[in-house]
Amino acid sequence: MDFDLTEDQATIRDAVRELAGKFDEQYWVEKDAAHEFPTEFYDAFAKGGWLGITTPEEYGGHGLGITEASILLQEVAASGAGMNGASSMHLSIFGMHPVIVHGSEELKQRTLPRIVNGDLHVCFGVTEPGAGLDTTKITTFARRDGDKYIVNGRKVWISKAMESEKILLLTRTTKFEDVTKKTDGLTLFLTDLDRSKVEIRPIKKMGRNAVTSNELFIDGLEIPVEDRVGEEGKGFKYILDGLNPERMLVASEALGIGRAALHRATQYATDREVFGRPIGMNQGIQFPLADSLAHLDAAELVLRKATWLYDNGRPCAREANMAKYLCADAGFQAADRALQTHGGMGYSEEYHVARYFREARLTRIAPLSQEMVLNYLGEHVLGLPRSY
Ligand SMILES: Cc1cc2nc3c(=O)[nH]c(=O)nc-3n(C[C@H](O)[C@H](O)[C@H](O)COP(=O)(O)OP(=O)(O)OC[C@H]3O[C@@H](n4cnc5c(N)ncnc54)[C@H](O)[C@@H]3O)c2cc1C
Repeated sequence: MDFDLTEDQATIRDAVRELAGKFDEQYWVEKDAAHEFPTEFYDAFAKGGWLGITTPEEYGGHGLGITEASILLQEVAASGAGMNGASSMHLSIFGMHPVIVHGSEELKQRTLPRIVNGDLHVCFGVTEPGAGLDTTKITTFARRDGDKYIVNGRKVWISKAMESEKILLLTRTTKFEDVTKKTDGLTLFLTDLDRSKVEIRPIKKMGRNAVTSNELFIDGLEIPVEDRVGEEGKGFKYILDGLNPERMLVASEALGIGRAALHRATQYATDREVFGRPIGMNQGIQFPLADSLAHLDAAELVLRKATWLYDNGRPCAREANMAKYLCADAGFQAADRALQTHGGMGYSEEYHVARYFREARLTRIAPLSQEMVLNYLGEHVLGLPRSY
């Protein structure tokens, strides 16, 4: 058993730490408050070649594994960039997996090098108001018309749609009531987000405000057949391939925020004196922070196991789900405790822990809720009857 990072992985961690460190916490406060995309940060990571960390070399990337991508996003989040920083690049880093595995060579050549160099922003359109987590119930419909599809429907919570030129869009090409297997009849496209056919409305939300999340009203969007990813009707299966890595990457981001929050809390607990001594001398302050350290470290071990299994071609669903669950809980708990440690100042924006609290909370909901992780573990690992 080897718990060390390889030399290359350690180099990646240090290089990302250094680059992310050039954008201080004040940068993120301002971007978050102004609801402004962190263009300088994103461009710096694109220029450094980081967006292509997992993309195969023939499309301009580095062809590295999920372990390396996980180290990258954890460091980004831990730098104080939190979910704002991670979400600005998350989809470029691994979201195109279905395209890499199932897309045509022409589609890959046309899009992937541009995603890697940062020129092409992409978003991912799955969630719909009427379907929620029950993805097979989506109703956005793509009707074939000669060499194109005409799409109508509605999406919700689509992050970065405002900034994106293209969308990886999940649609139905056969209605739910007409398929024998509910996961059939869904089709995936990587296509232009044509503003003349798609109205994009940002949602006012609790945090992570440097990156928008949007409602999409799609009315007659025309998609050329060349923009279809793989075969018609198999989109759900294609998306499933990327779910475990997605869980691991969100876990990495949650972990990073937890580490950033714990760092702030420890610093404040050392510096702040009340009743004539540092507040960190009180076990009521010290123990929760030490407990969070233990939870973050334990969650990280499960995450490292999950990414190792994936990169070694082994089944990893159990560990990927657990990593997401444990890191999201540990990250949020650390952020909550960091806020408590700061007393009243925790509630101000000045010490950043309020921002971490809001952003860490998100990882317990999206892209998959904690409840759905437990559903997975209950049914597929423990073998209990499906509860829904
Ligand atoms: C900031 C943000 C960014 C997002 N970005 C994107 C994006 O870029 N692209 C995209 O497609 N989506 C995106 N999403 C959507 C996100 O993936 C969903 O919000 C998430 O999957 C939860 O789905 P829902 O909101 O529809 O919850 P619902 O399905 O309405 O569920 C509501 C609650 O009920 C619980 N629940 C439902 N069914 C069960 C059950 N059977 N057992 C136990 N509990 C259950 C859920 O766990 C949840 O807590 C984003 C969401 C947010 C908040």
